[in-house]
Amino acid sequence: MVKIDQERCKGCGLCIRACPHKLLSFSQNVNKQGYHFAVCSYQERCVSCALCAEVCPDVCIEVYK
Ligand code: SF4
Ligand code: SF4
Repeated sequence: MVKIDQERCKGCGLCIRACPHKLLSFSQNVNKQGYHFAVCSYQERCVSCALCAEVCPDVCIEVYK
């Protein structure tokens, strides 16, 4: 599963583009900084490859197996 720190996310979208299974998307909601943060709506399909975490410039994503 992936855990995204929604309050630190700057909405750059790099993780969304990096996920080979297209599991990430922007939330309709915004965080306290005013950014649409990234969310994972399909945790059960995550293969824990960690590509999303590697590309995040703000180190907002943790991946668990
Ligand atoms: S760990 Fe891999 S499969 Fe899971 S959300 Fe991140 S990029 Fe996608
Ligand atoms: S790469 Fe990081 S900062 Fe950019 S949208 Fe994803 S979680 Fe947010």
